[in-house]
Amino acid sequence: MRKRPNRFSGYLNQSMETMSPGEREEYHNHLLREITTYAYRHSPRVRETFRATAITPEDIQSVRHLEKVPITEKANLISLQKKDPPFGGLLTIPHNRLKKIYLTPGPIFVPEGKQSRYWRWETAFYAAGFRKGDIVQVTLSYHLSPGGWMLEEPLHSLGCTVIAAGVGNLDAQVKIMQQLKVTGFVGMPSFLRSLGDHAEKLGLDVKQDLFLEVSFLTIELLTETTRNAIEKRFGMVARQGYGTAEVGAIAYECMENRGMHIADDLILEIVDPETGKQCGPGEVGEVVVTLFNKAYSLIRFGTGDLSYYDDDPCPCGRTSARLPRLVGRVDQVTKVRGVFIHPSQTDQLMSRYPEVGNYQVVITRGEGGDEMTFHIELETEHIDREELKGHLQDAIREALKLRGKVEFIPKGSIREGAKTIEDRRDWG
Ligand SMILES: [Zn+2]
Repeated sequence: MRKRPNRFSGYLNQSMETMSPGEREEYHNHLLREITTYAYRHSPRVRETFRATAITPEDIQSVRHLEKVPITEKANLISLQKKDPPFGGLLTIPHNRLKKIYLTPGPIFVPEGKQSRYWRWETAFYAAGFRKGDIVQVTLSYHLSPGGWMLEEPLHSLGCTVIAAGVGNLDAQVKIMQQLKVTGFVGMPSFLRSLGDHAEKLGLDVKQDLFLEVSFLTIELLTETTRNAIEKRFGMVARQGYGTAEVGAIAYECMENRGMHIADDLILEIVDPETGKQCGPGEVGEVVVTLFNKAYSLIRFGTGDLSYYDDDPCPCGRTSARLPRLVGRVDQVTKVRGVFIHPSQTDQLMSRYPEVGNYQVVITRGEGGDEMTFHIELETEHIDREELKGHLQDAIREALKLRGKVEFIPKGSIREGAKTIEDRRDWG
């Protein structure tokens, strides 16, 4: 029997992954100058954007200067591609020189250039515990969308053997897993659960009769509850990665469970969606990515996802900052006193208090500016309201970096289908 590899330590590319913050900054600034000059010369769309903003590549000497560049939103790719088909002027080579072309919902065409390690997921898979000799079942779609191919490519680089299983076919997939002694799973948490359920229906014990040791989960958010359930049920490591169809790898987890390390080979900014300015640690904003890609110019590509970063050192030794989690989508945020808040943040906060039943956050304009009030229906009447109020107000300030008032309201006051965060400010 094959000896179990050490999945829990080491780096794929130590000098990159453990660069000092100063080294990383210098490395990024150098590549940024190169890619903006290249993109300006070869991408009609980038040139047009720079000219419309009256900037030239010389104005972009460092990551800080990216604030001058307008963001190209993922949501706008559809109209850009319609206006200037097939790639919206972002491609720097004729499209018959690409390796592959995909079509994702939108519809949006997605190019894949010919350079090796195009989607850059190798470091992510290594950090997640995948090693040479693993037999890996990739369960994302291989039809039109880049998902399956994108996650297969890095596994070859690491020396794994891939089963291009795609989606569906539960019965065949379970049997393949058992017969070929598959050690790695790549796909969505919900599909893994379906596979487990199906295996049990066939009378298998998923821990004893399957050989899974490691999994890389993506597309759906992996909550701690789901992670624990998967690790316990299958007896394997479960780690997640975050990326998009256009960009490939953006961030990934290490073994420490302290959020997703930002990939070293791109520039990630957390950006205030209103002003385009870069946010500091802990401040929620849009994930905006600049790629050093010479086929497809993604300079300040807005993913539409909201997150924040944490640059405290991680015990794993990787020195990149981490995204603790994705907070939601840009189109669902509300700005209160200069800070963005999202329903998923308030839901997470309130879920820690079993005394709280239904709640709604109401934003109004007061004498001293915006006011945020949590209207709360209690599950039970028999509690010390003043004490709970104090706890909640502290927790709100801690989690949202904003002062909020708490008001208890009778059960049933919040109408069905009401917005979690209701903006009652008069914008007239
Ligand atoms: Zn780490």
